[in-house]
Parts: sequence; C-alpha cells; structure tokens
Amino acid sequence: MSDILILNGRLVDPASGVDAERDVFLRHGKIAGVEKPGGLKDVTAKEIIDAAGMVVAPGLVDVHVHLREPGQTYKESIKTGTAAAAAGGFTTVVAMPNTVPVNDSVAGLEWMLDAARGSCIKLLAMPAATFGSRGEEITDFHELAEAGAVGFTDDGKPVLQDAVMREALTAAAGIGVPVSQHAENTRLKGGCSMNAGPVAFRLGLRGITVEAEARIVERDIQLLREIERVDRVRPHLHVQHVSTARAMELIRSAKAEGLHVTCEVAPHHFALTDEAIGDYDTNAKMNPPLRAEADRLAMIAGLMDGTVDCIATDHAPHARFEKEQEFERAPNGITGLETALGLALRVLHQGEGMTLTRVIALMSAQPAGVISLDGRGTLRVGSFGNVVVFDPASEWKFDVTKTRSKSRNTPFDGAPMLGRVAYTLSEGRVVYKA
Ligand SMILES: [Zn+2]
Repeated sequence: MSDILILNGRLVDPASGVDAERDVFLRHGKIAGVEKPGGLKDVTAKEIIDAAGMVVAPGLVDVHVHLREPGQTYKESIKTGTAAAAAGGFTTVVAMPNTVPVNDSVAGLEWMLDAARGSCIKLLAMPAATFGSRGEEITDFHELAEAGAVGFTDDGKPVLQDAVMREALTAAAGIGVPVSQHAENTRLKGGCSMNAGPVAFRLGLRGITVEAEARIVERDIQLLREIERVDRVRPHLHVQHVSTARAMELIRSAKAEGLHVTCEVAPHHFALTDEAIGDYDTNAKMNPPLRAEADRLAMIAGLMDGTVDCIATDHAPHARFEKEQEFERAPNGITGLETALGLALRVLHQGEGMTLTRVIALMSAQPAGVISLDGRGTLRVGSFGNVVVFDPASEWKFDVTKTRSKSRNTPFDGAPMLGRVAYTLSEGRVVYKA
C-alpha cells in the first residue's frame, strides 16, 4: 500500500479533542503524522487527497450490523455489506450472530472473519450468547473471545431467562466484554407487527407496547446490581437499539447509579416515527418498531445529554420478495449503512444543534469505546489509517438505486441527507471514493 497525504481538511477527532485544520499522513496502513497545514513538508506521498472544505474524521464504527453471511447471501454478503459500509464512511462493523447457521462456535466465527469473505473494512463479530440463540445454554465465551469475539448477543431475540442472562453477564464480565441485549419481552408481543398507538389503530394492526422493551431493560439492570453485590465482578450490559422513552429513562438512572450500562440508538429511531408506515409500507417495519413522537424526542434527548453511547445502524437487508408481502408477514429490518451519517448530520447537527464533534464521537470514538477497541475510532498518530473525508455542507438525497447493498429495503429512498462522503480509507487504503 502506498503512502497517502490528506491535505487542507478540517480534522475532527473527538478522542484527541482536535477540531482544527490539519494535514494527515498515512504510512504502512497507520496514521503516521498529523500536523498544522504545511507542517508535513518533508514527507512525500504518491497519492494526495485534497480535503479543502471537507471534514477529515476517524472512520466510523458500527457495533450492530447484519451481513447475512453465511446462509442468506441472497439478501447481503460480507463483501457487499462492507462495501455499503465503506460508502457510508464506516471502517469497522460488528456482525450480529443471527446468520444461518447461528454464529455460536469458534469455527463459525473464524469462517466469518476470514479474509476470504472479502470484507473491504475491519469486520468484527459478536457471536451468540447462547447456543443457537435458543436462550438456554451459554456458549464458550472464553474460547470465542480468544478467537476475536468483541461481545456476546442473541440479537434478533432477547436472552429471556433470568438465570441465563445472569450467567452470560457474569461470564462476559470475567473477560471484559459486554453482553448486548435485544431488549424485548417476547412473551408480551404475540403477533404484533408495529408500535401500539393511534397509527396501529388506524391500520388495524396489533401493536407492541413500550413495556416489552422497558421490562427487559429493567430486569437486566437489576441483574447488574445483583451481580456486582453478590459476585463482586462488574458486568457490562449494552442495550441495543433503544426505542422507547421509558427504556431511555431506565438507562439514564442506571448510569447515574454507577452501573456499567451502555446503549445505542439507530438513526431511524431518531429520524422517524410510526407515521412513516403510512399505508402499510413494509420498508418502515423493523424491530424494535418505529415509535411515537414522544419516544423519538426521548431518543434525541438521550443523544444530546450523553445517555446514549453510540449510534448503530442495525443494518438489516431483506430481499424485495420478502418485503413485498402483507405487513404482518414481512420480515423486520431496514438497510442503514449508507444513510446513517447523512441522517445524523441532518437531524442531530443541523436540526438539533449538536456539534460536529459530538456527532462524530457518537459514530466513532464512543462505539469503539463500547467494545474497547484500540487504535480505531481516532486519528491519533499510531492508530490504524481509518479515515472518512466528507463534505459537511453537501445536501443530497439518498437514491436507493445507487446502493452498494444487495438489498433496497429502506424508508429513506429520496430522503434528504446532510454531509456527503467523498473518501473512506481503511487501514491506509482507499476503499470508497465518491
Ligand atoms: Zn435486535
């Protein structure tokens, strides 16, 4: 790989507290120099990127994606999913285990992370917390962590049984990784396909109440307390895709209490409400579902006041034929890697006045912190050469026909975005160029 100079950009690196004009030098896949403009006079590079008018930020980190490989590569593959990630400015993504078969073994994890799968960025994974994600018996956390697991989850489903979740949290605490919980009490949900409320009433669909999410978050927080007191270890709970005001409030007070809870919010939960379902649009069907305006505002409040640790896409591709069926039968999930930055900048930065540094922190340094990544989510000298260069003033509309993903299930086709990615560099190589 050749050396690269990125000149004249506005470097925004929350981890090192820099928001200023800086030139960046990448050598051997690492950040080799960061200097004031003109300060890198004595270095030369074959490739020079002129970033005048652009923001130069750490490559984005997404702790929650579904890349569908193995088993469902008609929806997405590691190659196409990571290409979509690179187009969205991401250089590190964490694959969920609900593939076919479920990623619950060292062999499965190693297969997924193998370079032969064709990932163009750093691919990490959270294997299943329980065998087959059946919620009964926890997997071999030690072995899996040694093979690269950055956490454990049964995402798509919750770990429902108290005793099993308790064991998972305790085992993960010994290794220093989080248990990521899909917080949904599935016992409360039979046959529901959207949020309970006036829109569900109008459409004649059964609604999922906010309790389904809040009850699991509440139970898990209680387990953290109990484990700290009884077992004298400090477990880390990561709450995935928080969608309700009630769960957000529970997480806020658990943090104030000093428990190790982190959480993520997906762009669709701060950008949309259940009104987006309109006339049974299955591209607005996901789990947790789009909620009421009060919940959307609570997501924004949590993002603004620091209760939320990171933005995660929950990128969940599905084939057209799967989404083109009646609402209650269509699968949950939307694609999200190419729209996350544009939505965060439009809704949070332009709309809510969040600083650029904070938006970038929520998508780089902070998600890297949730899974304790070293050398990622920052542009400090010595870090991996993971960089996104974007035009922060560019207003554009997402066109799903241009997606790198194999699937097109998004409610954001034609939606306004702010901030256009010009280059994405992963470990010193250009992996996306507009
Ligand atoms: Zn989930």
